[in-house]
Amino acid sequence: MRIRADRSVCIGSGNCVLVAADLFDQDEDAVVVLLTDTPSAAQEDAAREAVNRCPSGALSVVED
Ligand code: SF4
Repeated sequence: MRIRADRSVCIGSGNCVLVAADLFDQDEDAVVVLLTDTPSAAQEDAAREAVNRCPSGALSVVED
């Protein structure tokens, strides 16, 4: 799996960080920062949940 984060679409809600703080952070403008685009197997469910909870559609995952 690969995670993609479109910073130009992010509205800074922070949901992704609440769901998976080991995958996502936010910069000083609250825009998402992807900490890794290749989650471990144990992180994959959280990555999918973050995509589902992102209100702007900035996040997506690409399955291998
Ligand atoms: S959940 Fe979506 S809109 Fe909110 S900070 Fe994360 S990427 Fe941005």
